[in-house]
Amino acid sequence: MRIDAHVHYSTEEGYVDRLVEEERRLGFDRVCLNGAVWSEHRDANDEVARARERYPDVIVGFGYFPLGEWGVETVRELREQGFQGLKFIRPPARYDDKVFYPVYEAAEELGMVCLFHLGIVARTPQDREHDVNNERHRPIYLDTIARSFPSLKIVGAHLGNPWYDEAGMACRWNPNLYFDLSGSSLKKRPPEFFKLILWWTETGQYRDPEGRHAWEKIVFGSDVGIEQIEDVMNDYQRTMEAIGLRQELQQAVLGNTMAKLLGLAG
Ligand SMILES: [Zn+2]
Repeated sequence: MRIDAHVHYSTEEGYVDRLVEEERRLGFDRVCLNGAVWSEHRDANDEVARARERYPDVIVGFGYFPLGEWGVETVRELREQGFQGLKFIRPPARYDDKVFYPVYEAAEELGMVCLFHLGIVARTPQDREHDVNNERHRPIYLDTIARSFPSLKIVGAHLGNPWYDEAGMACRWNPNLYFDLSGSSLKKRPPEFFKLILWWTETGQYRDPEGRHAWEKIVFGSDVGIEQIEDVMNDYQRTMEAIGLRQELQQAVLGNTMAKLLGLAG
């Protein structure tokens, strides 16, 4: 199964129809569409819910969830509406601040996959108003959360760019922590770079606690406009081919791992 785990809702005319058409053309079975509108600080969760009703076999809903503004009851409401995941970005404190723990606890209990923006966010004119602080997006804070909520399914975006080393080691030590490679990294970094960050295998002295290969913890996410999804897919495949990743692992990255996280047949 192929899954695009990281797609933002867009208010463009006919967006959902065109998105589904393009993802199908590229061979994707499911699209995790989140309600965080591109570069805006507003939620489009209702629009995502409608997209799900329109394409129930394709669209997997991820609710935009502004930490610090909404409470646990909203996590439950989103789950009841059929959302299978949550998307976090621009928190008012570090991601591992204890004030957010009830949200993570509810998501863990409800089996919702949590997609966290990591690293530097795009700059907008509202950054001062929203007190944007990229330090709060460091991957090491997902390490704290992963240890505190061992059943919470966590996906960190962009391999933590620019905190790749932190992301890599947090990935190795936490069985419930996964990453996508969306963003500029696949363009600016050579394949060898990813081999250095995601270095462990099923064998050898230094393994992850479950003996999984590093790339079993990586998922495909495009995080771009419709026109660039194919390009991101090509970047993933080019990188995986260049480092000689075996087919089974490439298929895991392109969807089978995310299918397991979402409880879909892999
Ligand atoms: Zn995103």
